[in-house]
Amino acid sequence: MRIGAHVDPTDPLAEAAARDADAVQFFLSDPQGWKAPKPREDAELLRGADVDLYIHAPYVVNVATLNNRIRIPSRKLLLGHAAAAAAVGAKGLIVHGGHVNAGDDLAVGFDNWRKTFAYAADSGGFPLPVLIENTAGGDNACARHLDALARLWDALGDYEVGFCLDTCHAHAGGEELLGLVDRVKAITGRIDLVHANNSKGAFNSGQDRHDNLDGGTIDPELVVAVIRAAGAPVIVETPGGVDGQAADIALLRGQLGAGTSAA
Ligand SMILES: [Zn+2]
Repeated sequence: MRIGAHVDPTDPLAEAAARDADAVQFFLSDPQGWKAPKPREDAELLRGADVDLYIHAPYVVNVATLNNRIRIPSRKLLLGHAAAAAAVGAKGLIVHGGHVNAGDDLAVGFDNWRKTFAYAADSGGFPLPVLIENTAGGDNACARHLDALARLWDALGDYEVGFCLDTCHAHAGGEELLGLVDRVKAITGRIDLVHANNSKGAFNSGQDRHDNLDGGTIDPELVVAVIRAAGAPVIVETPGGVDGQAADIALLRGQLGAGTSAA
């Protein structure tokens, strides 16, 4: 099982080595900004690395919203990131499920997701797997609660869509971790990546506040059980820099017996 961390984008391979990580996730542009990603000078090095790479799309991306002035640039930014992520050999592009504004019809939000994939298909399709991630907060989210996730997957129909399961977001979003993998897979058919995070916020608090695995409000054994059931690569998005994340990775390897398991 490949286990890694979300790291600073300046030198992701050095960050991986510092944490003894098999995988890294990073941003290709300011996560709070609308700038398209620039080509990376180390693209060839990254493509050849034996560390698995995942790219996280900026947080501002919301392809579901009915607000044209957010949705249209979001779609563009997502497509730009997909091309840039493929250029560095990433295994997936992670993007949050997004939401509609209060009073807006969530059904239109799901259809806006469908249109995003249709729009991408018109230009040959996404060049790498796009992994939609569950989110923690809001009353109008497309991927917080599993009933919404089921409607999203219905809307996406035959398009090739991946899923990233964040344990902090699920817990804070109000979904029990016990048995969650089976309930998710019954909807999506797949889990491509697990974001293994503990949660500073309480169950169903709606708070997106990550904690180290042995801190927070989730029993770490539940996070390990989710990872085992998912059988997918793992990224920790936890605080504490190199030391905090290296400890989280080591904790997971210890619990999972990762040294002996085949990929
Ligand atoms: Zn996450």
